[in-house]
Amino acid sequence: MFDTLSDRLTGVFDRLRGRGALNEQDVREAMREVRVALLEADVALPVARDFIAAVTEKAVGQNVLRSVTPGQQVVKIVNDELVAMLGGEGAAPLNLDVRPPAVIMMVGLQGSGKTTTTAKLGKLIKEKHGKKALMASLDVNRPAAQEQLAVLGEQVSVATLPIVQGQQPVDIARRALESAKLQAVDVLLLDTAGRLHVDEALMAEMKAVAAVATPAEVLLVVDSLTGQDAVNVAQSFSDEVPLTGVVLTRMDGDARGGAALSMRAVTGKPIKFAGTGEKLDAIEAFSPDRVAGRILG
Ligand code: GDP
Repeated sequence: MFDTLSDRLTGVFDRLRGRGALNEQDVREAMREVRVALLEADVALPVARDFIAAVTEKAVGQNVLRSVTPGQQVVKIVNDELVAMLGGEGAAPLNLDVRPPAVIMMVGLQGSGKTTTTAKLGKLIKEKHGKKALMASLDVNRPAAQEQLAVLGEQVSVATLPIVQGQQPVDIARRALESAKLQAVDVLLLDTAGRLHVDEALMAEMKAVAAVATPAEVLLVVDSLTGQDAVNVAQSFSDEVPLTGVVLTRMDGDARGGAALSMRAVTGKPIKFAGTGEKLDAIEAFSPDRVAGRILG
């Protein structure tokens, strides 16, 4: 994760720290290199530009340049701005503090890792939050999508809604809610249908399901490997449905990290979780300060 960016930044900052005194020109040159490194990591251009402007403004101040360890101070400023760009300190928590069942609606394009992530979250909610979970697949488009969730449910020992062939998504959502209430379920996870692209039919379905399910969380699952496309998909969804957060999958294979770095700044939505592998426990709360620490080494 973030390997290339991390290597590049380490080089720039080692050189800055290695020098005793710094002047404004030194800082500006270093920031030019940081800008290139961000763009090479596929960070959205306006995000990179704002980031550099914010760091430069703080770093060229006299109390930084005249301090005993100016290089160190600049790195600290970069770290703080990176944390801010990623959404502020600490992980954005799941909002489960509503009258049960708390509904988590999972949305996203086909192949993004939505069903796998639903099962990962079901497991996490059961094991880490100690809550009773139920999962239901509303995907009536893709053959065997509902069966896939049932199989994953067995693997993580989280109940899934029995499949009734021929039922439409909104009706499945209603049945899932009723079942969750009857069984005193704390958290109901709804795995909605994906599509190859964002289209009107998909958005209409998401809105209809959201109207029935009144979710506490609407989590968009996107593939971090798709870079800026992931950010664009998030923007499209967020224009139509009230997203409360994003889950970035395949972070384990993402050496560049552009989606993770731009998501919050472009969409205003927090990344709540990162998928870090195919195994059903390969999910982490996305913590901006920890991620910034990982990038800056
Ligand atoms: P869906 O169509 O969005 O429901 O996608 P699936 O949940 O079926 O996932 C598609 C593929 O991506 C599966 O082979 C998953 O194992 C894999 N996958 C999902 N999340 C991750 C992740 O975080 N890392 C990796 N390496 N693979 C993942």
